[in-house]
Formats: sequence, C-alpha cells, structure tokens
Amino acid sequence: MNLIDTHCHLDFPDFDKDRLSVINRAKDAGIVRILNVSCSMKSCKKTSELTRGSDSIYGSIGIHPHDAASADDAAISSLKEMAKDKKIVAIGEVGLDYYRNLSPKEKQVEVFLKFISISKELNLPLIIHSRNAMAETLDIIKREFKGNCKGVFHCFSGDEKSLDEILGLGFYVSFTCNITFKNAERLREIVKIAPMDKVLLETDAPFLAPQHLRGKRNEPAYLAYLLDAVSEIKGLSKEEIADTTTRNANRLFKLGI
Ligand SMILES: [Zn+2]
Ligand SMILES: [Zn+2]
Repeated sequence: MNLIDTHCHLDFPDFDKDRLSVINRAKDAGIVRILNVSCSMKSCKKTSELTRGSDSIYGSIGIHPHDAASADDAAISSLKEMAKDKKIVAIGEVGLDYYRNLSPKEKQVEVFLKFISISKELNLPLIIHSRNAMAETLDIIKREFKGNCKGVFHCFSGDEKSLDEILGLGFYVSFTCNITFKNAERLREIVKIAPMDKVLLETDAPFLAPQHLRGKRNEPAYLAYLLDAVSEIKGLSKEEIADTTTRNANRLFKLGI
C-alpha cells in the first residue's frame, strides 16, 4: 500500500533531533513520497536541502500568509529561481489567514498575488492556506485564473458550499488528522461528500496530531491514522483510499510514481 503525505514541515526545528528517524518511520509506514511545504525564506532553503537529501522527498516554495510581511521583492524573485528546481513541484503554502492576522491583510493579499503569478508562469500547482478568509481567497482565485485552476486547498475545514466552489474551480481538497478530533463531526460530513478523485491526504506535521495523540508532535508516519479515519467515513477499503489518493497526488504534483 503506497501513501503520500502531501503536506508537512520536516524542516521545522521540531524535527532537528530525529529527522532521519522520522523519515525512516514514514518509509516503514508505506509513505512513498513526502511533500515538504515551505512557509518562509528560511524554510524554502531548508526544504530545498531536504529534497536533495532523499529521493522520496519533494518540496514546494512559498511564503505563508503569517510571514507575508517579511517578503520583499528581492526575496520573492530569489524564491522564484529556487522554484525552478525539478524536485520543487508546487508553489505554497500561500494564501490568506485572517484568523491570526500575523501579517497585515493588504500585505497578505499582495504576496498571495505575487505567488499566484509565479505559479502561472512556472506552471506549478498552488498549495493554498485559507483560514477565516474563504470568500476573499475564492474572489482572488476567480479573478486571477480564467480557466481551470491547478492546486489544492490544504487542511480543508470549510462548509459544503465552499467545497463545491473550490471543486468547481478545478482544485483538489486535502484533509488532515483534524478529521479525527472528537468535535469534528461537521468536518467528517464534508469528508463523506468530497469526491474521492479530488481528495488528498496530509499530516501538516508537526501540527495536528490525531485525536489519541492530540497535543503531541505529528509526523508523516501518522498518515496511517488518517487513512483509517477516511476509510471508515467513506466506507471504502484502506487499499482503495490509498490507491486513489496516491494517484491524485501524483497527477497533481507529478511525483514520478
Ligand atoms: Zn497551512
Ligand atoms: Zn502547513
């Protein structure tokens, strides 16, 4: 059974002490590809290093909306060069986060727009982070893309209406272990109705460990728990979920499988 963790942050200091063991445990758990997603200048550099260190690790280049304030034009053009590497398969995570507003809204929008244009120019899919900002994110996407969009809304936790909209625009939707949380009944309903050919799996490690490990560090190997949950919610075998989501991730990110 082959699985792909389409979104995690192995470059974070949380993994400094045992990064190699974490990568090996992921392999043992059937994770054949890991997509390490960048959030900042520093994280882009580390992601590039990680992709060079392992055949199974691919990367994305981008600046998280939290860090948008730090992204000047020089930084963004150097990241664009970095994104031309063949192991860099996406632009992200980029988007809008009006929940924490760690960068001013105008700056978040400005940086998001710049990365959208890089994704179009380099023909790379977008990994979108959108929190408390779904309407604004969708407005921007509709304005910036005329035809079908390429990308994923990661850690999706929106409602049925926004699910329909993002699927209608051509995006994939990605779920994390937060679907296992006790109070996530509404989100499990969304998982149930999401069409399987548009679903991706991710851990977003080190964040969002599954319910029984809540508060602890998450890691790619725990994708197995997400697989259990999705299989139960969908009423489909684990093999079928693994096959379909791996095919989806490979179709979107071209991970050589
Ligand atoms: Zn995110
Ligand atoms: Zn993330």
